[in-house]
Amino acid sequence: MTHPFLDLAPLSAARFASVEDRVARLLDTRQDVVIMQGEALLPLEGAIRGTAGPDTTALNVITGPYGRTFGDWLRDCGATVIDLAVPFHTAVTAEQIRAAFAEHPEIGFVSLVHAEAATGNTNPVAEIGEVVKEHGALFYLDAVASVGAEPVLPDAWGVDLCVIGAQKAMGGPAGVSAVSVSERAWARMAANPKAPRRSYLSLLDWKERWVDGGRTALPHAPAQLEMLALEACVERIEADGLETVMARHASAAAATRAGAVALGVGLEPYVHEAREAAPVATTLRAPAGVVASELVARALTGDPALPLAAGGGALAKEMIRVNHYGADATPGAVRSSLTALGAALAERGLTADLPGALRAAESAWR
Ligand SMILES: *Cc1c(COP(=O)(O)O)cnc(C)c1O
Repeated sequence: MTHPFLDLAPLSAARFASVEDRVARLLDTRQDVVIMQGEALLPLEGAIRGTAGPDTTALNVITGPYGRTFGDWLRDCGATVIDLAVPFHTAVTAEQIRAAFAEHPEIGFVSLVHAEAATGNTNPVAEIGEVVKEHGALFYLDAVASVGAEPVLPDAWGVDLCVIGAQKAMGGPAGVSAVSVSERAWARMAANPKAPRRSYLSLLDWKERWVDGGRTALPHAPAQLEMLALEACVERIEADGLETVMARHASAAAATRAGAVALGVGLEPYVHEAREAAPVATTLRAPAGVVASELVARALTGDPALPLAAGGGALAKEMIRVNHYGADATPGAVRSSLTALGAALAERGLTADLPGALRAAESAWR
């Protein structure tokens, strides 16, 4: 009996290379794009371990939980790490990056998360890239939560290592990811005696055994199911148009933000400035006296498929996340999310203006 995802033929090297080329086009990059056979944490960790060592001074920007993780990996590599943490309700500015370089001219590596689904902020990468370029530092970017939701342009922005995953705005699988690697980043890895080699974490292995060989023979069996899904999701974005997909995410964010405020019960945008709010997901601050995780659990009882979540860890008390990405970047998902939140708030005795919220959301949808 045939089955849609069993007994698959191995994916050919040519097909694998063509998916890489499509991802490169999506990122408008001429750098090498290496697809990694695992969730995005694989290239995120591999890129840091490949390039950082005891002679590295790294500026690690923390605008959410991932930045903390990157700092831990950098320290584990022996790097000297200068943490630049900004409150989660805001974004880092290019001026703050400039000031960090002025104070520590020895900085040779900058790690940054573009958009944070976990905190709902997005950082001005183009402006920051200008500053990083002036100082010649290697620029590492986590674009997992931004790709597909807002422009991600590694070449234009001078990003040396740009990591993406398909599981957020691209609406694709979580088990495969990609990283674009600049010539300088390859050179840094080749010169780094501590860069992983003959290891699952190794980007250099892919360079030596795949890229440099003209991408004709795969070093090991490709994860064909994930590759086919990644190919399908890039194909769908190409068909819809990347601009259209990004516009849907921007509209979902604007509508959710406007609708939450219009509920009129103190459900405030967690990220204060709209321009610093990520198009991928909108975070909200629970009204005084309301525990976010309880409110979300209540809101999900009617429809557990709604894209609602409480913040992670310590944020579970105060933060509500509306994960309007991929298939949920639609007016319908925003409406349903606002309706469920409004109903859960009403149960708490807070009279939410649901018709007003839905009107506000509709007119904010651009
Ligand atoms: C979602 C996300 C990732 C991927 O991590 P998961 O824990 O698998 O969701 C990495 N970086 C950022 C900024 C993300 O938002």
